[in-house]
Amino acid sequence: MPMKSIISFIFLFALISNIQVMSQDDIRTRNLTEQHVAPKVTKSADEWKSTLTPLEYEVTRNKGTERPFTGQYFNFYEKGNYYCSNCGALLFNSSSKFKSGCGWPSFNDVTNLKSINIITDKSHGMLRTEITCSNCEAHLGHVFNDGPPPTGLRYCINSVSLKFIPGK
Ligand SMILES: [Zn+2]
Repeated sequence: MPMKSIISFIFLFALISNIQVMSQDDIRTRNLTEQHVAPKVTKSADEWKSTLTPLEYEVTRNKGTERPFTGQYFNFYEKGNYYCSNCGALLFNSSSKFKSGCGWPSFNDVTNLKSINIITDKSHGMLRTEITCSNCEAHLGHVFNDGPPPTGLRYCINSVSLKFIPGK
């Protein structure tokens, strides 16, 4: 490999690493520091399997991801509330839902910060911020700092982690 390419490669790598670190700092400035609340609902793997569909189990209990543009709520804009599909805890309101084009339901805020756990996720060679339900520890999705005002956040959530109930 010519020296110029090696230098370009190192520069690019440094740039990418830097962007990821900046993203995390940005999230911290928006008061999304790591938090973990002790769950009120705890069940064994077999108990969860008996109440969830295989896809719900894979996503919420094994931290999976549903395929983009396939979920029930990615292109859905009715008025109402979104609850945890595992335990029924209130998580999001339709007033914070927006069209992100990413293929998953996207919100710029939660109804209550205490309803979620915020966890640094270093899996798959990426530095991301994972969100779980604080009531039952179901994996919901990830939060990114490219959302619309007022929070500037994009909570990118799996449809199977949510249950919508129409209302205000
Ligand atoms: Zn839950």
